[in-house]
Amino acid sequence: MVLNVNKISKNFGGIQALTDVSFSIKEGEVLGLIGPNGAGKTTMFNMITAMFPPSSGEISFKDDSLTGLKPHQITEKGICRTFQNIRLFADMTVHENVMVGNHCRLTTGVWRSVFRTKSQKQEEAAVNRKADEILEIVGLSEFKDSIAKNLSYGQQRRLEIGRALASDPQLILLDEPAAGMNEKETKDLFDLIKKIQSLNITVLLIEHDMPLVMKICDRIVVLNFGKKIAEGTPEEIRTNKEVIEAYLGVEEEDDIA
Ligand code: ATP
Repeated sequence: MVLNVNKISKNFGGIQALTDVSFSIKEGEVLGLIGPNGAGKTTMFNMITAMFPPSSGEISFKDDSLTGLKPHQITEKGICRTFQNIRLFADMTVHENVMVGNHCRLTTGVWRSVFRTKSQKQEEAAVNRKADEILEIVGLSEFKDSIAKNLSYGQQRRLEIGRALASDPQLILLDEPAAGMNEKETKDLFDLIKKIQSLNITVLLIEHDMPLVMKICDRIVVLNFGKKIAEGTPEEIRTNKEVIEAYLGVEEEDDIA
């Protein structure tokens, strides 16, 4: 198992956002985390990436407990994420945005940077090359020198994924990557997630686009009101009575059937 989530609960004042949620992610799989609005999905991402500590329970990554770690230490361990709302450096170039994502892997300290030692120059060249490779993966090579804010919406979302990939993750958490995308952009996103999986990076995906979820996920965990109500293959989830009930009355785009 890459990630083990063991009986995680989280309350914010009076709001019980998560209650005793447990699940595991196997290496190399795409695991979907779905549920109606307010079910606790993003809160779970925030627990895994140490944005907030859980009220109780434990999360471990490759058998190491993540308890007490800071967000940057989570990144160093090999877990990265994207956010529901785009958080790029809008005025930096596409290439620079990806280079920033790699900074947690740099070993050059202040002095070596100031004196521009040979090793510092080598490291800089390696970061440049790595950013080029990632832009190739996310299909943005031709926009390398464009300013991030001038990209189309779908391209910006792909750049966010590229920036996350630059941290050399073993596990990537994608929070609603298809939100606001048109059909073509969603199809490209499907191909990109498949490509990420083929690079042996494990994927945890929050997504409301059910056709995408059903097509791309190996397994799915369903939350409702902060509790896990189901876990299984897309086919098992599609026909699960409790899941169908949880989704009744939600908007059509969210419909599980
Ligand atoms: P959506 O699909 O709408 O993004 P979600 O499943 O990601 O929803 P969360 O954002 O995790 O749901 O929210 C779960 C519950 O926790 C909600 O009731 C939300 O209002 C509450 N919540 C989340 N973060 C906080 C916070 N920082 N402070 C207070 N309440 C919070």
